[in-house]
Amino acid sequence: MKKYNIGVDLGGTKILCALVEKSTGKILFEVKKKTKKEKGNERIASRLCEALDELFQISKVKKDEINYIGIAIAGQVDRKNGIALNCCNLECCNLEVKKLIEEKYGIKTYLLNDVEAAAIGELLLGAGRGYSNIICIFIGTGVGSSIIINKKLYYGSSGTAGEIGHMIVDLNGRSCACGGAGCLEAYASRSAIETRIKGAVKKGRKSIITDISKGENISTKHIKKSLDAHDEVVSQYVNEAIEYLSGGIASVINFLNPELVILGGGLIQGIDDIYLKTIRLTKAKALYTTVQNLEFKKAQLNDYSGVVGASLLEEYQNDN
Ligand SMILES: [Zn+2]
Repeated sequence: MKKYNIGVDLGGTKILCALVEKSTGKILFEVKKKTKKEKGNERIASRLCEALDELFQISKVKKDEINYIGIAIAGQVDRKNGIALNCCNLECCNLEVKKLIEEKYGIKTYLLNDVEAAAIGELLLGAGRGYSNIICIFIGTGVGSSIIINKKLYYGSSGTAGEIGHMIVDLNGRSCACGGAGCLEAYASRSAIETRIKGAVKKGRKSIITDISKGENISTKHIKKSLDAHDEVVSQYVNEAIEYLSGGIASVINFLNPELVILGGGLIQGIDDIYLKTIRLTKAKALYTTVQNLEFKKAQLNDYSGVVGASLLEEYQNDN
């Protein structure tokens, strides 16, 4: 019997690839690679294969011991045909992931959205165990979410439900990577905070983050260090992001009335103050009766919700 599955989480900053024990969801081996500068169909495809090759190499597992590969990608997907339709943070469009991987490795492959995978991971093995109606929201490079109703993911009519990041919060607002304007993601993601800080520094404001980040892209760690040092610029833009984020989450809660909100992603996992303040402001902004019995939890599988969820897709489907 085949004992292993492979899960891949392909995001805007890194690709995480893991060999997972089918019966327990335990990660046995993992490979991590940066994707920050790897954009576009060809480069993403070759980065994905590099990561898988390396996983086979270090784990010494044979291809015929693998049930399937579940690949979670940041963006919209055609689940049936395994095509990455529109993944703006990776600059991927109509990439035939399933076909590519099945032809190269001869292993059955599934493609799913990264937040969908993270929700499956949290539902089966993390913060969502025992709950039925959940919204999972992940804040990192972008802002993504998944809706779980009666323990099942809600996909919508064409499979793209849950795009909280593209909820419009300002009609005449900032442009978004999706091509639209005023989307929550352009206000509440780590990249939004980075853009705001860089803009302020360019205009002459002083921030300790310039020294901390040494001219590199601003990461969650850089933001945390600057907040710990009470940096005024960073605090201002982080607070601004939390205001928008809590407004967005409050709207979704009012609309769907879940019993649990799971918050995850780099900014939430890495900075406790952001997590706690987001909850406090969300409760203050949402309708009183809607939040009375509502629980908030941090994603429990940390960076691994997506990769574990992707590797357990069939197990999730069999349960439902
Ligand atoms: Zn957008």
